[in-house]
Order: sequence, then C-alpha cells, then structure tokens
Amino acid sequence: MSIPLLVLAGLAIGPAPKPRLVVVITVDQLRPDYLDRYRTQLVGGLTWLLRGGAYFADAYQDHAVTETAPGHATVLSGRWPAHTGIISNARGVVDLLAARLIGVAGPGASPARFRGTEFFDWLKAAEPNARALSVSRKDRGAILPIGRAKESVYWYQSGVFTTSRYYADSLPTWVQAFNARRVPFRAAGLTWDLLLPPSAYSEADSEPYENAGHDYTFPHRLPADSPLAALAFGGIPTMDSLTLAFALEGVRALQLGRGGTDLLAVSLSATDLVGHAFGPDSREIHDQVLRLDRYLGWFLQQLLVRYTRESVLIVLTSDHGVTPFPERSLALGHSDAVRVIPDSVIRAVNAALDSRIGGHDWVYLETGMVLVPDRGKLAAQGVNVDSVVADLATRLRAQPGVARVDRPADLAGKDTTDPLVRRWQHQIAPNAGVELVATLKPYAIWSLENLPIAMHGQPSDLDAHVPLLFWGRGVRRGVYRGRVSTVDIAPTLARLLGLTPSEPLDGRVLGEALQPVD
Ligand SMILES: [Zn+2]
Repeated sequence: MSIPLLVLAGLAIGPAPKPRLVVVITVDQLRPDYLDRYRTQLVGGLTWLLRGGAYFADAYQDHAVTETAPGHATVLSGRWPAHTGIISNARGVVDLLAARLIGVAGPGASPARFRGTEFFDWLKAAEPNARALSVSRKDRGAILPIGRAKESVYWYQSGVFTTSRYYADSLPTWVQAFNARRVPFRAAGLTWDLLLPPSAYSEADSEPYENAGHDYTFPHRLPADSPLAALAFGGIPTMDSLTLAFALEGVRALQLGRGGTDLLAVSLSATDLVGHAFGPDSREIHDQVLRLDRYLGWFLQQLLVRYTRESVLIVLTSDHGVTPFPERSLALGHSDAVRVIPDSVIRAVNAALDSRIGGHDWVYLETGMVLVPDRGKLAAQGVNVDSVVADLATRLRAQPGVARVDRPADLAGKDTTDPLVRRWQHQIAPNAGVELVATLKPYAIWSLENLPIAMHGQPSDLDAHVPLLFWGRGVRRGVYRGRVSTVDIAPTLARLLGLTPSEPLDGRVLGEALQPVD
C-alpha cells in the first residue's frame, strides 16, 4: 500500500496554495555547457537555482531555425514554430505600421503573426484578474512569451524601455520614471572590465577575429557620447542588470501577486550580444556569464524577500545556443567550418526572374528556408516555379558548407529519431510557403556579407541544446538526464498550477520532476 507523501510529512491534505508569482527567465543564447565550464566560479542565482531546482541536462529548442523569435515563442506556448507561426526572426514580431513604438523612434512590433494561445491565456481563463509583465532588451524577447494578450510588455530601444501601440497609447508613470533616470545615457565612457582577476580566466583575450577586429581586448569602454553610449549599452553585461532592475520596478508598481497568481517573464539579451560579437569561447562570454549569475542572485533575492520561497515558481531556459567563430573551429580541425553567404545565389535567381517578368525579389532565403511568397503570381506569368526551385536547390547544394537541401514535403513522415529531420518537421507547417530547407555541415554558419560574427540558427546541437530548470513548490530537486524540450515547459507549468491548456500542445508534462500531488 502506498501512503501519500503529504500524509507522511504530517501536512494537511488539500489543494496546495498556488504561487503568487510565476517567473520565467529566458537567457538569450545561454549554452548549457557554460554552466559546467564556469561552475566553480558561479556563486549567484545560477548556482542557487541549480542546487535547489530540477535541472534538465538534455533539453532542446527542438526545431530547425534556432533563432530568438521562434525560441521565445516555444517557451510558454508548448508548441513548435510549425504551430505558433513564428518561424524566424524576420517573420517574428516586426509590425512597422500597425504597432509603432511609444515615445521613441524604432521598429514597430506586435504578436500579430503569433497563432494560438500561451500559458498566460490559460491562467487568465482560470483567474480573470491575472496579469502579466514581460520585459526584455529585445521586442521579440518581451512579446513572444506572452502571446497575443495585451499585458504589460516592455523592451529597450535607444536608451529607454517602451512598448508599442498594440499594447497601449502611452507609457505608465513607473516606466516614465525609470526612463527618466537615464542610466544608459549616463553610462557614457563606462568601462567593462573583468569581474575576477585575469588569472581566473583561461581563455586568450586577444583573438583578432572577435568583435569584427575592433576592441577585442579588456577593458571595453562605452562611447563618450551619451546617445551612442545608450545604443552600445544594449551589448554589454550591465544591460541584463538594467533589465532585471526594470522588471523589479514593474513588480512593485503593478503589485504583482496581490490578488492571485501573476506572470513575470524576463528575457536577458546580453549573453546573445556578447556571444555574437566575441564567440562562445571568449573571455568576454566567460565574464558575461559570471556577471549574469551575480545579477540573477540579486534579482531572485529581491523576489524572495517580497514573496517568500513558498509562493514563487521559477523557470530558467534559453531560446537557442550558438556555434563558435569559424576561425576558431577551423583551428580546432573542423574543416567544414565556413561562413555560408548565399546572397549572390539568391540575387542571381531574382535577377533572372526580374529580367524575364519584372517585379521585385521573388525568392528569399532566410536562415536556411527558401520562401517564394508570390508563387501564384509567378505561375500566372508563365514561370515554372518548380524548376526555378529545383535549380536553386542545385546551386545551394554546390555551396561550400551546405550539407543538404530538402523539400519540406520530402521530410514529412520521415524518421524522427534523426534530429535534423525532426527539427525541420517541427519547424515548418505544410502551408508555410517554404519551398526548400537547407542544412549546413557541422560548425558552418549562415552569414551576411561583411558580418563576421559568431552565429546560431542551425538544427545542430550546438544551436539547439539549452538549459532547462524548474524551481519552487511542487518541483522535485535533482538532475534529470532524459531528453526533453522547451515545449514541455508550458504543460508542466499548467500542471503545477492546475490549469488546462486551451488547445492541443506539442510538449508533455515533465512529471518526473514534479512532487506527487495526492
Ligand atoms: Zn542571437
């Protein structure tokens, strides 16, 4: 006979009190191997969560285009890009005309392309007074964890936090007051130096391929000009500290958790910016992760003082990983590590079509996906689109660094134990208008002309492997080795809160990490 654990513990039987605050932290481009690599130097929030939470060591953003927008859209929807409709950054939250920013110039953004519901919608259906606050340096990092709900959603643009007209017509007083401190502008001339003594970093500091060949050794200094400093501020570790301070300010101003369970989503972008510029093996990314760990420690401490341990539920994950600089990979013997720049191939196809029938760019290649949005128009003008696409496939296969080019229809129904096939299946809906999918060889990266950065976006483990961690009441502490994915987060949170998702999900409840409830 099994005796329920709660009886053994001498606790009253009954529904567990619900958390007042669900906190979902997405660290942009946080590769899980960083947590192992720097483990002995992590003394803040990352270590605290790892020690007290359920850590999934084999978690993936298990789709092909491992970019920020698709990644953030999986986290609280429980669904793949094929089902959320967010298949790339370019087809993410950009909404230039209908959703202009408030009080600052910059690209408008909204969740107009996002399909279906998210965790917050299920919470709101059960608790009509529930509220959400979502903040990030990036529009897509703030918008996509919430879905279409018109909640408090803010991101950073040119030195201030703002939102778009999708959400509001003006900024609330607390946001205006936070912006009025002008922290990023006052950071003109600020120096980013190492947190620990140089001997604590095993990486070489001077790699001339880093940061496009400029300013690649410590210390790094922000421009002396205030507006330029506010722009550059978005790419240094302090940006995460500012984002967390802004989130806490919002928690206080909105009094989250006052009337029931509320949601706080925070997406921290500095790791992504530093990773792109300096690469995953740099002294800079090492220092960034150490600082992130300290900032998170301070942030979580503040939250626990406000809410107590019993009433906060925390998730930490990432939207994608990253592939090293090809320069470094080549030096380590990965002979296929090249930058694949498909611009000339695509330009040639478009030029041929334009000379024949006129018009604009008919064919796009976005992070491995070939799209022909106006297929019908081309066909109506007598173009054999299938042969154009087949010709393009041949040209792409001939590019150094390209491993394979497939038609999505040819991958449907194929063996899902092949991660590459599975990740493309999770990526593309049959009606998405994607004609071809191109996958690169290991350690090769997609690139633009004159953009010598480290990159992600492939269906490789380097780009898809992410940390996943749950902490709080109802969670069984431990390290879990089974393969899981970020679409499992939303159903697991729903189970912890007794919520019913309002549509079919791609993920599953991670029951192995939950306390028995009976
Ligand atoms: Zn990125």
